[in-house]
Amino acid sequence: MNNGKICISVCAETSEKLIEQIKCAAPTADVIELRFDCLEKIECEKLSNELKQVRRSFKGKFLATLRPSEQGGKKNLTLAERKEFWFNSGVSEFVNWADFESEIPIENTSRHSAKVFEKVIKSFHDFKQVPANLDEIYERAATNSETLKIALQTDDITDTIAVWKLLERAKSEHKQIIPIAMGEAGKWTRILGLAHGAPMTYAALDAGSETAPGQISAKDLIETYLVKKLSPQTDVYGIIGYPVAHSLSPFMHNAAFKSQNIDAVYIPFEVKNLDEFIRRFVKSETREIELNFKGFSVTIPHKTAIIKHLDFIDETAKKIGAVNTIKIENDKLYGYNTDAEGFIEPLKNCYGDLSDAKIAVFGAGGAARACVYALEKENAHVTIFARDVEKARKLTDDFKVQSSKFKARNESYKNFDIVVNTTPLGTIGEFADKTPASADQLENINLVYDLIYNPFETLLIKEAKKASVPTIGGTAMLVAQAMAQFKIWTKNDAPMKQMSAAVLKKLS
Ligand code: NAP
Repeated sequence: MNNGKICISVCAETSEKLIEQIKCAAPTADVIELRFDCLEKIECEKLSNELKQVRRSFKGKFLATLRPSEQGGKKNLTLAERKEFWFNSGVSEFVNWADFESEIPIENTSRHSAKVFEKVIKSFHDFKQVPANLDEIYERAATNSETLKIALQTDDITDTIAVWKLLERAKSEHKQIIPIAMGEAGKWTRILGLAHGAPMTYAALDAGSETAPGQISAKDLIETYLVKKLSPQTDVYGIIGYPVAHSLSPFMHNAAFKSQNIDAVYIPFEVKNLDEFIRRFVKSETREIELNFKGFSVTIPHKTAIIKHLDFIDETAKKIGAVNTIKIENDKLYGYNTDAEGFIEPLKNCYGDLSDAKIAVFGAGGAARACVYALEKENAHVTIFARDVEKARKLTDDFKVQSSKFKARNESYKNFDIVVNTTPLGTIGEFADKTPASADQLENINLVYDLIYNPFETLLIKEAKKASVPTIGGTAMLVAQAMAQFKIWTKNDAPMKQMSAAVLKKLS
């Protein structure tokens, strides 16, 4: 358990809506940040009366913020208006803490004094970049008495290192800082900050009500990432890829760690430049910060590019030519591929013996390679169907399988026992209303296996059901490959029930 606090930021146009949000935040938050700049009209007396009621159940702190538009706030405000709010509006009567940008005087005489607040957070924001003179900004702002908040927009994960280093520096100087790397690439700083000494992390009330880029919901911070229980000794795992925001792996793996009481956390790491990430975050000889990494899932587009960074690659991964799992032990990187196992286990459980089964695999990309490798090991007869047979050539040559163009809509796949879809047709988004085969084409097939897991039921699965063909959806493989990763990392059998439940909850 660390000493960090969760601050839920609330932002609404009217006092009524703000009060509603405050009531929703109160059961989970340690601190509730009232974003006064979101209000069309600031009504301190009304809020003061309402908050008295909330106070009966909420024992945490109220933090007031009035962010001007030039610093990412919602209102155009003059300095005079801001000072008027802070020192003459009566806000200090009902909030405990205040967030002051550098222009607001903290130490002052007379009634223009911030001493009326229990605590002042001095904040600095840059919504465009990590400024080159960051150390100078820190030196100017950091004091021994106030907490400093520095929130900077990051575009690439390597930008986040400079932000994180502020936390290390402040710790060594016995100062308090909340460093925030905003944006998808900086999400990890919001998750690991408390473990490494940040006094507070900001959270959204729920998904969709974020008040800053990359903010995570309080529920996920508390229930999925267990941020208040993390420490510098916590084992850190994560998914590296681009993009990773959609990934369900954090929910599966964190549920698994939680159910087995393992002091570990699994985090999304949005990595554009893999070589730089490995150099600056991972390799012991060159890394610039210490996060206690123990392993990664690797996803698109890095599954093949990661191979050159490994100290060891297992036979399966080598044959498939892709790595989806890294274990880090004694600073060495071990690479594995659990996609093949994750694919074949549910298939064998459902179909039984696959030897001599005739299998049509749609698509010839990375996932198809893992499927074909696993099917060949089971002595199945595979035919690849691709829109571009030439592009599929490497796969068909490597595994000595047949290939063909997709059949026309009036032609059937009835000569096959099993159809496997590894194309993105049917995935949520632009492909959602697409299917690689219709019900008519699937008649008399024994099984349809669609690797797509979002949506839970794709159009292909619906078409198969229409033709009364049994189906396996993509969540089966998703969970099975993650279970195999969990075993590699922890040597424990993975808790299938908890991992499946975590995925289904997110997809429902
Ligand atoms: P990939 O390497 O990009 O391969 C995609 C394949 O689909 C390529 O052969 C591509 O052909 C083909 N394709 C793309 N768009 C198509 C279209 N409109 N019509 C016909 N074919 C098309 O991707 P991947 O890594 O293999 O992943 C493929 C799918 O499997 C993704 O949806 C992914 O989410 C899913 N998957 C699921 C799991 C799981 O655990 N359930 C695991 C891995 C992957 P071209 O080469 O001609 O573009």
